[in-house]
Amino acid sequence: MRQWGFIITKNTALRALTDCQFSEYSFEAMYRKSIKTRGRFESCLSLILVSLVFGMFAITDYHLLGLSREYYLLITMRTVVVSLCLFLAFIIGRWGSYSRQAWLHALPLWILATGIILIVPLRPDSLFTQVTAVVVATIAFYLLIPTLLTVAMFASLYLSIGFLVAAVLFAEIGPVVTLRIALLLIMTNVVGFCALLRLEVLQRKQFALLHEERNQNRLLLKEIAHRKSLEAQLRMVAERDALTGLDNRSHFMKRAEALLQRSRLEKVPFSLFMIDVDHFKSINDTWGHTHGDWVLTKIAAACAQSLRPTDVIGRFGGEEFIVALPNTGPEDAQIVAERLKKRVAELPLKEGMSELCLSVTIGIALAHPEEADLESLITRADQTLYVGKRDGRNRVVMYRSSC
Ligand code: GH3
Ligand code: MG
Ligand code: MG
Repeated sequence: MRQWGFIITKNTALRALTDCQFSEYSFEAMYRKSIKTRGRFESCLSLILVSLVFGMFAITDYHLLGLSREYYLLITMRTVVVSLCLFLAFIIGRWGSYSRQAWLHALPLWILATGIILIVPLRPDSLFTQVTAVVVATIAFYLLIPTLLTVAMFASLYLSIGFLVAAVLFAEIGPVVTLRIALLLIMTNVVGFCALLRLEVLQRKQFALLHEERNQNRLLLKEIAHRKSLEAQLRMVAERDALTGLDNRSHFMKRAEALLQRSRLEKVPFSLFMIDVDHFKSINDTWGHTHGDWVLTKIAAACAQSLRPTDVIGRFGGEEFIVALPNTGPEDAQIVAERLKKRVAELPLKEGMSELCLSVTIGIALAHPEEADLESLITRADQTLYVGKRDGRNRVVMYRSSC
C-alpha cells in the first residue's frame, strides 16, 4: 500500500494519505463532510449531462440504422438508461452521501457502461466511433464523479472489459485490432486513474492546509487574548495600589499632571486635595494592621465613590490620599471635601471597632491661573493639611498664602 505522507506543522504532526485518504479516520470524515453538499451537486449535474449526451446519440443511431428493429431496440435501451440515470441523479442530488452510499454513485456508472456495451451488438459496423465514445466515457467516469476513486475505477474497468468482449463477440474483430483497442483502453484507464488520484491528493492537501491554517488562527487569537489579559494585569500592577485599588502615586502624578495642563490651557479652575486619616497609627495599635488595612480600603472606596468621574484619586502613601479635581473652584472644592469628610465619618465599621471615631483632615490647594507645576500645588496642599492637623484634625482647610 503506497503512502502519500506530508508534514504540515508540529501540531498536526503527520497526516498520512493512505490509498488517497487521510489515515486518521476522523479527519477523513471531516473532509468528506466538508465536500458533501458540493460533491452531491456535482455528481447530480454530471450525471444529468452525461445521460443527456448518451440519449442524444439516438440521432446517430437513426442515421446509421434507419427505422429498423435494431434502431427501436437501441432507442428503447437509451430511454431506459437515460430515465434510470436521471432518476438516480435526482436521488443523489437529494440524499447521496459519499461516505455512506457509495453504491448509489456506482449504480448510474454501471448502467451507463452497460448501455454503451449494449450498443456494440446492435451497431457492430460503427465500432470505431464507439471506441472513441468508450474513451470519453472512461475519462468522464474518472473526472466527473469526484472523490470515489474505487467506484470510478471498477465502473471504468467493467466498461472497458465489457466493450472489448462485446467487440470480439459481435463485431468479429481480429486479434491485432483487439490488442490495439485493449491497449487504448488500458492507457485511458491509467490516465484517468492517475488524474483522479492526483486530484484527490491535491484536494486533501488543500483541505489539510486550510484546516491547519484555521487551527493556527484559532491559536493565534487565543494567544492574543492571553497577551492582552497579561498586558492588562501588568498595567494594573504598574498603575494601581495593591491594597486600595486606587491609582498609585506615580500613575496619579501622570494623570493629574495632564489634567492640570489641560485646565491651564482651557483657563478653568483646578483644585487638589491632600487627605490624611487622623490618628491612624492608634487604629493599627488598637485593632492590628489587618483592621487598619480594612479601614484604609473602606476610606478609599468611600472617597472614590463621592467624586465625579472626571476627578482622579490616588494613594499618595501610607494613610494619605490625594485627589485632583479639574474644573473645580474654591467653593465647589470646599463642598466636595466636606462631603468626603462626612462620608468617612459615617462609614460603618467592623464589629468590635464601635468606639473608633474615624475622621480625616483635608488640605485644599487651588492652582493659580497660569500654574503648571503640580509639585508646588501638592506642597501647598500638604502644608494646608498640616495646618488642619495642628488646629485639631477632622477638618477641611483651604490654602491661604498666610498658611
Ligand atoms: P495623624 O493624625 O497625625 O496623621 O496621626 P497618624 O497616626 O495617622 O500618623 P502617623 O504618621 O503617626 O502614622 C501613620 C501610620 O499609618 C503609621 C503606619 O504604620 C500606618 N500605615 C501606613 N501605611 C499603612 C498600611 O498600608 N496599612 C496599615 N495598616 N497601616 C499603615
Ligand atoms: Mg500621614
Ligand atoms: Mg494620619
